Amino acid sequence: MTADITIADLDHTYPGATTPTLRRVTLEVPAGTRTAVLGPSGSGKSTLLSIVAGLSTPTGGDVRLAGHSVLHQPPHRRDLGVVFQRPLLFPHLTVAENVAFGLRMRGTNRAAIRRRVAELLDAVALPGYGKRRSGELSGGQQQRVALARALAARPGVLLLDEPFSALDPQLRGDMRVLLTELHRREGSTTLFVTHDRDEATDVADTVTVLLDGRVAQHAPPADLFRRPATLAVARFLGGAGNAIPGTASAGHFDCPLGRLRLDTDHRGAALLLIRPAAIVVGDHPGDNVVPATITAVTDRGTHLDIQATSGGITLQLTTGPAAPLRPGDDTLLWLPPAHLGVVTP
Ligand code: ADP
Repeated sequence: MTADITIADLDHTYPGATTPTLRRVTLEVPAGTRTAVLGPSGSGKSTLLSIVAGLSTPTGGDVRLAGHSVLHQPPHRRDLGVVFQRPLLFPHLTVAENVAFGLRMRGTNRAAIRRRVAELLDAVALPGYGKRRSGELSGGQQQRVALARALAARPGVLLLDEPFSALDPQLRGDMRVLLTELHRREGSTTLFVTHDRDEATDVADTVTVLLDGRVAQHAPPADLFRRPATLAVARFLGGAGNAIPGTASAGHFDCPLGRLRLDTDHRGAALLLIRPAAIVVGDHPGDNVVPATITAVTDRGTHLDIQATSGGITLQLTTGPAAPLRPGDDTLLWLPPAHLGVVTP
């Protein structure tokens, strides 16, 4: 049975450490959904996962699976499957024996084990590999066996800690697709830890950004890029893009570009964020069209990187490779309200 995960006010300080690794981390993963915990190295992601898995005990807070606190239960009583960066298969066992391991420990009958192992090896695209020694497999194949092993007992929760980061980039892309398909079949509530923003947005329906042990934002992938909650989140997600100082008030933002319309209700001194790819060159009916002068055009082959000035502010934007723009051209730029994020500096 797929189970919801509740992480409530979790604090953790390692023995002897002067600063906490996790600070009041609160997070809900509804049953059957996928959340990625995304953050830079050292932000506390693995610590969080190991607490949910039962491998570490937090200094404060609670972890509930399907509504019940599990902090006092050992890992094997928590109804979860775990996959780490390294597959950690038993090298002396065959692939089938590795996948069957948990089921055998539970005393599942042989016929049922055989059926489930065959079903899972099909699902991870390794049909017929059951009799091989796990040591004969490539890294990607071993990680697929680790996924099958984690899911064998139909756990309510699947925990993944950087499961693909030891694989090469092409393979990582394939593994994301495989994981999504596996989730559709198996349905285990999934908590996925990664430092890779593309991986997070590919595999999860919700992303929790963890910075310095704190939840900095919790949002669907598209919202995260459009509306980063803080400048630190925007920077971590790959540069803040354009950050324009000004004052927000009741649906407006007053700045050197003029008065822009906002979809958010932020108020006070703030930075307006907009990604280069979200700025549209040319006129547009309605608000948020500003006059600008092109100051630089760099042809990247696949697109143009453009610099423009408006109201004394330099803006970065990108367009398709065929846009007929030259330095010195006067143009209009549309800043779509749905793509304007406002953060406190
Ligand atoms: P991430 O997975 O985001 O890279 P970690 O959870 O591994 O982050 O680590 C977060 C912080 O906790 C780091 O500063 C790390 O040095 C510290 N840390 C991790 N494990 C231990 C440990 N066993 N003892 C002391 N400090 C630790």
